[in-house]
Amino acid sequence: MKREMSSPEETFTAKSRNRRNGAPAERGRNRGEETHEGQKRNLYADVARQFQKAADLMNLDPNIRIILANTANEITINFPVKMDDGRVKILTGYRVQHNNVLGPFKGGLRYHPSVEIDEVRALAAWMTWKTALTDIPFGGAKGGIQIDPAEYSKAELERITRRFTFALGNNIGPEYDIPAPDVNTNAQIMAWFLDTYLQTMPPHERQSYTHVVTGKPVESGGSIGRDKATGQGVVFMIEEWAKDRGFDLKGSRYIVQGFGNVGSWSARLMQPHGARLIAVEDITGAISNPDGIDAEALAAYVKEHGGVFDYGMAKAIDHETFMRTQADIFIPAAMENQITETTAQWLNVRLVAEGANGPTNPDGDLILQKRGIELLPDILCNSGGVIVSYFEWLQNKRSEFWDIEEVDRKLHKKIVNAYKRVREAAKKYQTDWRTAAYIAALSRLETVYKERGIFP
Ligand code: NAD
Repeated sequence: MKREMSSPEETFTAKSRNRRNGAPAERGRNRGEETHEGQKRNLYADVARQFQKAADLMNLDPNIRIILANTANEITINFPVKMDDGRVKILTGYRVQHNNVLGPFKGGLRYHPSVEIDEVRALAAWMTWKTALTDIPFGGAKGGIQIDPAEYSKAELERITRRFTFALGNNIGPEYDIPAPDVNTNAQIMAWFLDTYLQTMPPHERQSYTHVVTGKPVESGGSIGRDKATGQGVVFMIEEWAKDRGFDLKGSRYIVQGFGNVGSWSARLMQPHGARLIAVEDITGAISNPDGIDAEALAAYVKEHGGVFDYGMAKAIDHETFMRTQADIFIPAAMENQITETTAQWLNVRLVAEGANGPTNPDGDLILQKRGIELLPDILCNSGGVIVSYFEWLQNKRSEFWDIEEVDRKLHKKIVNAYKRVREAAKKYQTDWRTAAYIAALSRLETVYKERGIFP
């Protein structure tokens, strides 16, 4: 399979071409993310705004700016899959590789109806900033399939995953591009991905390729602690923030949007600090209980029922009431574009700790800043996942198996270092934390490009 290079442009643009066959993408496919207000936004244009603000402020070298404003490779694959009833469906999957100057491309795979090329470009760019910021030797990529997994049986999802993996071919690889779980994908999907990839390798070499994917089940070569890693990272970040502000987490109140991997783990790991979960929202609805919702019991309920809807120990509320809940901390851990120009006005919290990628759009950011609501930005706050993915990759390469204490200790160290780098950049440039996180990441990329030069 051939990789295709994107055309150079000086700034990010919302490109809506199908790069593989050069045909214009279907309009309906390139719809951007739909917010609760029904607005349609182009996520890649939002990344451009964030990038430009930081690049201007730090005076990023124009040659490096043009490189980082473009993705390296974009792969669109239309592939056939046989359904349980014998029909064949053509599905569309993407892999966008944004940059690999610091190491192999790295980023999750998402299964969601909103997956389209500009969304994947945005998510891939965020991975480049995240890996640079946290000082791990990876670049940035992202992929996904435009499906609602709820519409498919387990057997169909397995065939979809295996066919897509096969179609990606040598566009992925343990030293080249390493996927991981994201929205609606999990350790099981990674196990199918791994198994399919290994089938394409000579039998005597297979065991040396298990680091082609991270977030695998522990029995299949995954790392202990990867499942909770993103939520654990979010909570380590909140601990640092609380220490800095002299804020006591004990007795504090928090609300969480999204109760999947990131949301449920963040919620569960906040509880031992004596913090109280008072409202939760997911795709099935929103619930609240001012006396507290037991995150462990709710996680067990969600596992059984598929969502928070109808949870007996809390009352149902609507979206606006959820967003207006008075609390200390809001952890958005669902989708992009949830904190907008409108909903940022509704929030009644002191801190937004972004578990999701891109939950706050640039207009929402401005409102949060005006209202004095602090923010731990996504590329910093949710970096625990990719950090432990890196640990998993290392363990596979060295045939090692670390225990949970070792994983957590090393994760904590990386998180605290990244937090401090952003705090320093915010102080030095007198800017907001999102821009500071970008500056910390872009500085590292700029240094490496300057050291290595541009080939030839
Ligand atoms: P997941 O599929 O496990 O959970 C997603 C959750 O969001 C579900 O509870 C779902 O019901 C909810 N949700 C979806 N649409 C919603 C909506 N419109 N309103 C309210 N809730 C909605 O996904 P995840 O892995 O937890 O990922 C969540 C976010 O965190 C994504 O932005 C993802 O990119 C980001 N992230 C994930 C990881 C990881 O390791 N999984 C790492 C870094 C960042």
